Amino acid sequence: MKRHSGYLEVIAGPMFSGKTEELIRQVKRAAIGKKRVQVFKHKVDTRYGRAKKVYSHAGISFESELIGKSRDIIKNLNPKTEIIAIDEAQWFGDSLVEVVEYLLKKGKKVLVAGLALTFDRQPFIPMPTLMTMADKVTKLSAICTICGDEAVYHKRITKTKIDPYIADPTLVGRLESYEARCRRHFSKP
Ligand SMILES: [Zn+2]
Repeated sequence: MKRHSGYLEVIAGPMFSGKTEELIRQVKRAAIGKKRVQVFKHKVDTRYGRAKKVYSHAGISFESELIGKSRDIIKNLNPKTEIIAIDEAQWFGDSLVEVVEYLLKKGKKVLVAGLALTFDRQPFIPMPTLMTMADKVTKLSAICTICGDEAVYHKRITKTKIDPYIADPTLVGRLESYEARCRRHFSKP
């Protein structure tokens, strides 16, 4: 059997930048190519109920496995799987890095999509590390809701203070709570 050297692609950007659409696009291409694919998503992302699917804001979907922590990827991995896609990677924290390293060592192709920054414009662990490890980084931007320019940030619109590193399931992906913003309009109301 041919041994592959492992390949990591990271798809990063703010909310509303089409990260999940890009991940699904790649997964569908892999499926057309008859590759064995497994898609994992963190349980915290319950914006579309408990359905075992990866949904994007645009409404396209793909079957996925809901898991609670990084190690579950290895636990649930089918040895025949060639491509592992991980959505909403920011919810897995630092431990995802060693899981990805393990998969790469096994010669797998790994696709990781996640938020590059928190709504406070801080690097969102583990994305910065994964981006430096990657063979390819696809950095996406959204559209600023105020001026229509490229937006690299998403801003939390509600007033309560919460820790950007603590996952808050009630706020994940809720369009009314976040807006994409360009640099100029991030600090303006
Ligand atoms: Zn703007």
